Amino acid sequence: MGTNGKNRPYGELGKQLYVDALERGELAARRNGHILGVWQQVDERLHASLCKACGAMVRVARPAHQERWRTGGRALKQTCLLEQVL
Ligand SMILES: [Zn+2]
Repeated sequence: MGTNGKNRPYGELGKQLYVDALERGELAARRNGHILGVWQQVDERLHASLCKACGAMVRVARPAHQERWRTGGRALKQTCLLEQVL
């Protein structure tokens, strides 16, 4: 194929890893019934979005010296509170 991940410029690969993590987080939050708002950049390595209905957070974070982004936050662990009330 001629492509070697290790030789690719960081920017392009890092961006793709970020987009992948963002999609993972959004899908997982949506599966729990959350309606995510706009993603906010809290920090260079921390982006977060809040559920418009219940305020639960989903975040993607990149630990120092790592290319991989991790997803986390309450929206991934709990179903939407508003959905439980309805
Ligand atoms: Zn919610």
